[in-house]
Amino acid sequence: MALINNYNYTQFGFSENQNRELCELASKKTGLTLFAGIAGCGKSYTASKFAENVRQNNQDGIKAVSVEDPPEYPIPYATAVPVPSDNTDGRAYSRAIKSAMTGEPDVLFTSEVKDSLVADYILGSVLSGIIVLSSIISSSPFLAFNRFKKMATKDMGDDTLLINGIVYQSLIKKTCTKCSKMVTAKAVPEEYAEVFDRLESKGLSAIRVRNKKGCFSCYEGTESRTVAAEILTITPEIYKALMAGDSLKARELFLSGGGKTIQDHALEKVILGEVDPSDAEKKVGHLG
Ligand SMILES: [Zn+2]
Repeated sequence: MALINNYNYTQFGFSENQNRELCELASKKTGLTLFAGIAGCGKSYTASKFAENVRQNNQDGIKAVSVEDPPEYPIPYATAVPVPSDNTDGRAYSRAIKSAMTGEPDVLFTSEVKDSLVADYILGSVLSGIIVLSSIISSSPFLAFNRFKKMATKDMGDDTLLINGIVYQSLIKKTCTKCSKMVTAKAVPEEYAEVFDRLESKGLSAIRVRNKKGCFSCYEGTESRTVAAEILTITPEIYKALMAGDSLKARELFLSGGGKTIQDHALEKVILGEVDPSDAEKKVGHLG
């Protein structure tokens, strides 16, 4: 019996609902989970934490291998298969995945899917019935699916077990709690006028803005960074729509099923005063 809600992703900035979704994804016994975002969005870090969660769900022991090029966050329980340094054309990386699979692991952890060779090895690994965690450069979870599908030359069929979910994320500067300030309609700085108007029409009466000069306990008004995410759990209907190339329909199904967009998540953080709306919009686009 899979354990649900046994890991705390909220410590990285995921919402309670996203925490539940991530825990559910990590309880799957087979299939691919993709971690998507642009470079430097923290997806590899989240993937490594997810790998820890997978381990917790398999207390009887699981055999894991990681093939990372370059290695970023070591998975303590995984055997790391080195990728030869002459990986200029990506072949050494895909060969390393192939050799990792000969050990018949239960979990395969790889870095980015960049080409057809890797996408096909990943699909082959998923079809052999194991858990695969990998990341992909993309600016939405739907585009991530399309990108993966385009790279793969193997048939992805209608088998809904192949991809369990896509965790898409970005990192937004967290405003310093000591020097940031609340802005209300009475005195909106010029540079915030436009975003304030839009957020006010969504019912916000105040926003917390970053003090770009900073204070003794921060750098330019920033304490650290926090995750804004969109988690696409793939249902059979969504899988079908994506396989048919209908991203719009897939998105409609996602939203009608209660899915929250990355903009929704970032807006929650603006409402809580955790992030400056301008910083949020720089990373995820218009909030409203
Ligand atoms: Zn400060």
